[in-house]
Amino acid sequence: MAERIVILGAGESGTGAALLAKAKGFDVFVSDQAVLKDKYKTELQNNGIPFEEGKHTESEILNANTIIKSPGIPDKAEIIKKIKAAGITVIDELEFASYYTSAKVIAITGTNGKTTTTLLTYHLMKQAGFNVGLAGNVGQSMARQVVEKDFDWYVLEMSSFQLDGTKKFKPEISILLNITPDHLDRYEYNMQNYVDSKFQIIKNQRESQHFIYYADDVHTDAEIKKRSLVPHQVKVTLKADATKNVYCKGTEMFFQLKQSFSIQQSDTTLKGPHNLINTMCAVSAVQIAGGKLELIREGLKSFINAPHRLESVATIKGVEFVNDSKATNVDSVVYALGSYEKPLVWIAGGVDKGNDYNIIKDEVKKKARALICLGKDNEKLKKAFGDVVPTIRETQSVAELVKIALEEAKSGDVVLLSPACASFDLFKNYEDRGDQFRKAVLELKKIVEA
Ligand code: ADP
Repeated sequence: MAERIVILGAGESGTGAALLAKAKGFDVFVSDQAVLKDKYKTELQNNGIPFEEGKHTESEILNANTIIKSPGIPDKAEIIKKIKAAGITVIDELEFASYYTSAKVIAITGTNGKTTTTLLTYHLMKQAGFNVGLAGNVGQSMARQVVEKDFDWYVLEMSSFQLDGTKKFKPEISILLNITPDHLDRYEYNMQNYVDSKFQIIKNQRESQHFIYYADDVHTDAEIKKRSLVPHQVKVTLKADATKNVYCKGTEMFFQLKQSFSIQQSDTTLKGPHNLINTMCAVSAVQIAGGKLELIREGLKSFINAPHRLESVATIKGVEFVNDSKATNVDSVVYALGSYEKPLVWIAGGVDKGNDYNIIKDEVKKKARALICLGKDNEKLKKAFGDVVPTIRETQSVAELVKIALEEAKSGDVVLLSPACASFDLFKNYEDRGDQFRKAVLELKKIVEA
């Protein structure tokens, strides 16, 4: 009898895993507690893969040899507790996919900057001529790509939840961008558990493989001091510290890798200190993989980042409107504020995830001409910044928001939507918030310039 694989959660990763498992001859069953999207349902049906939706039937699940779990399902879910009690192995889709490809992997994790760094690394790898796929949290699942059209390399964006489902997974090159408190509800509110989760990215790496990390990060640094690391370390710093492999002098990045070279941030399409870190990590990875420097330089000039990340939307009456809706925690706002020397009208607010605003108070005081609170409950923001920002205004309407912002701004200013909060009070998600903001800005531009 074929070994039985049960897949929990039939989104992109679960469906991809099901297709791969079926192709490899396993007895496959898919179970999702929610209703499946039509496109996945059709795919499963067309491939003769049995599934259930709206429930988890224990008799169908607890007889599995292996469970492939969607990273969204927490360990405290009833069904996972039962699976663990039954001693069944639980893995992630990326772990499973890695069993069936000889491709090398560049795996990227961190609290902030994963998507940007993953997309940039993928773009640079492609520009450098590699046969490379993009997967993990972005685009199509790796399992689907392994079964449909395998590559020589994969660039993977990996959350801590995906890392939690790895056992033998061994990236050729790993990148750890930073570790700041987030998702602690999934880690028993214990920061060390979250740090341990992130460090799983190197747990199987050999000496010949590379671990690129941002060495100025406090949690990363503390953890590294406790460990003896196996892979070759590539230390990245924003400081002018030539003892590190990759360092900065202002906005010039210096690389001391197989080759020594430097890159000016003005020769890239990305702004801000956080993007120096992301660029240094991505370029290092592609250089180590064997990418030619000239092609990397060209790639840096043609990269277009995903929307909602310091996305310049439009300039109205000399005021630049920037959509950074993806900034859902305070740490990413630190970097957003640091990306502009000009005076700002800062838009923040939404669902507070236990924010500590003290870390941005000085920067806000220095730069913000006004704060506009976009949210249902703005008390905490008003309290935190009442004494440092000259003007605070509030609204729940995006159309009104952009008008107020233009009123408060002067020519040459930046209006920055970088909310530090989740969006669920007024929007479906951060994309919806950013899309509505972009639309309202473009409508305002039309009216003002008519
Ligand atoms: P992730 O996929 O990890 O959420 P993104 O690339 O989508 O990361 O960026 C999320 C937010 O974090 C954006 O607002 C961005 O400006 C900010 N950010 C990007 N890179 C970094 C970094 N290296 N450190 C801190 N914040 C960052």
